[in-house]
Amino acid sequence: MEIEITFSCECGAFIDEVMDCDGPNRSATSDSESFREYWNTLTCDGCGKDYEAHISCTFSDTKVSIPETVDLNFDVIDLFEEEDVVSEIKSTRQLDIYRKVSTDVISLLRYSLPQEVKATLNNMLYAQVVTAIEAYLSSSFISTVINDDALIRRLIETDPELAKRQFSLREIFTQWEDLKFLVARYLKDLIFHDLKKIKPMYSAVLDIDFGNVAWLFRAVLIRHDCVHRNGFDKDGNQQEINNEAIIELVKQCTRLVSEIEERLIARKEALAREETIGDKPRFPRHLFELSDQTD
Ligand SMILES: [Zn+2]
Repeated sequence: MEIEITFSCECGAFIDEVMDCDGPNRSATSDSESFREYWNTLTCDGCGKDYEAHISCTFSDTKVSIPETVDLNFDVIDLFEEEDVVSEIKSTRQLDIYRKVSTDVISLLRYSLPQEVKATLNNMLYAQVVTAIEAYLSSSFISTVINDDALIRRLIETDPELAKRQFSLREIFTQWEDLKFLVARYLKDLIFHDLKKIKPMYSAVLDIDFGNVAWLFRAVLIRHDCVHRNGFDKDGNQQEINNEAIIELVKQCTRLVSEIEERLIARKEALAREETIGDKPRFPRHLFELSDQTD
């Protein structure tokens, strides 16, 4: 999460800074156990005075204190609002959105533009393709898993962070919807910070093997330069992203998306067949084995 901190310095300057913060211990089982604290130095641009900020976080609360300030204010910026997570769970338009963005990118490449403008446009297009595949992978995974109780169970069993957390039977029966929401939010946050996590998850939970996707992780690194360095690398060289590189990336992404779609459709069809044949209850029998903790 991010915290925006504002206060006035004694020199009269106004300090407004956004800090990155890892937040509470997310694998904790109780509010008190989730306590974590952080320290950070904020420097006044006006006079150079250093201020020591102390941040303490639990699931339920975040506190910021900075000695010698009077008008301290802070705001916890949640990366994902509740409605974002809920709409991700319900979304069925991942493929349409990916298609739309990737065809738009290809259309935009066809415009003939002066070379110096082209470099910036290609940077943006490259970054957009990476964002499109990332959004597809994340959103398809989340909506597929969260809408299938058996898959949620598989995720909880196979994910090292979630496996550490004990879910009580009370939580499972009375807070099933909340629990689904928490898991979806956890996934969104995790994938947002590290796309590499998604490959083992697709494999462990959905049995979908991406194969060698070194090209994707390389593209994520290039995107980083496109977005955060305006297309220039650490040494100040402009990244040459030509049309061919973008077309190639779109092809690779589209191939991956089609493979995943095929598998997801096959899975849905198999489930539909199962449902018409047997009267196997989908919930909650299998969940009994989830936890010994009776609360
Ligand atoms: Zn100052």
